[in-house]
Amino acid sequence: MINVKNLISRIILYSILVVAVIYFYPAIMRFNWSDYKYRQKEDGFDFYTDLSQEQFKVARTLCLEFKRKFEKCYFPIKNKKRLKIYLFSGDKGYEKFCKKAKCEGTEFGFYAPGEKLLVVNTASGWGTLLHEITHYFLSTTKVKYPDWFEEGFAAFFEKFIGKVDEKKNEVFWLSFGYFNPWRFSEVMVVRGSSKLLLSDLFNQKKCIQSIARNFILFTHHKGLLPGLLQELRKGTDSRGAVETIFKKDLPTIEQEWNNWIDESVKTRDCKLLVASQLFTSLELQNWCQQNNLIWSEEKGIFVCLPGL
Ligand SMILES: [Zn+2]
Repeated sequence: MINVKNLISRIILYSILVVAVIYFYPAIMRFNWSDYKYRQKEDGFDFYTDLSQEQFKVARTLCLEFKRKFEKCYFPIKNKKRLKIYLFSGDKGYEKFCKKAKCEGTEFGFYAPGEKLLVVNTASGWGTLLHEITHYFLSTTKVKYPDWFEEGFAAFFEKFIGKVDEKKNEVFWLSFGYFNPWRFSEVMVVRGSSKLLLSDLFNQKKCIQSIARNFILFTHHKGLLPGLLQELRKGTDSRGAVETIFKKDLPTIEQEWNNWIDESVKTRDCKLLVASQLFTSLELQNWCQQNNLIWSEEKGIFVCLPGL
């Protein structure tokens, strides 16, 4: 004999299960990418990509070399869960994925901290990849950084010169600390005839990334960037951290920053690196000759010979 009460409870339970599956399945599958070509786990990263094998080698070794360099200059990356990295070869695949994942305002790539997922359209260049990985690196410290530092620091790594082997397969050396020409132009437009104020930068909920990057670059050129990061990691507020590291008061630092911009705009360096570059040793040598560049031991970057 059928127990009616039991049957009703079962129907209710199954109905709840069906509704739950219908409701949660798209959410679970939201960031799933099934038509990738290769997958490779390495050094805390879990790469998925539809790039060609050659391009993937470059992308993979770029991430690994960046992590090595970052850890040497800033802090070791400790994380129990691997970072998933989706590397899309072009707009078509990337846009299709973003539509499914319902990602907004992510033209070139994004980092989803809750998912431990980084998604990049590599057609936009390698700069976005390093920008987004920097957000991940910062997130491993469990510190809430002010927006100007978070975005300025990530944008700082967008421009680089690196070396690849003769077959152009493996990245084995990177240098950072270059101007970003279009961001520098934006700084000049925003500044106009007035002075950039640090209090404005520190108080903005959403900073202007080009201004934030410019101040980070200034701090880097003074050799104070690792110290500033350490101070912010202690929980010091923006003004306190900057004054402690520069050992000066805010108006003095502000004036020096503005003077540095005035000097920088007169140089070729601020226009040099339109796109990040990966060169073989020979290509790098030729490029330096053509552009009259020398290696600056002090700044750890290639700089333009003055007056040429
Ligand atoms: Zn960012």
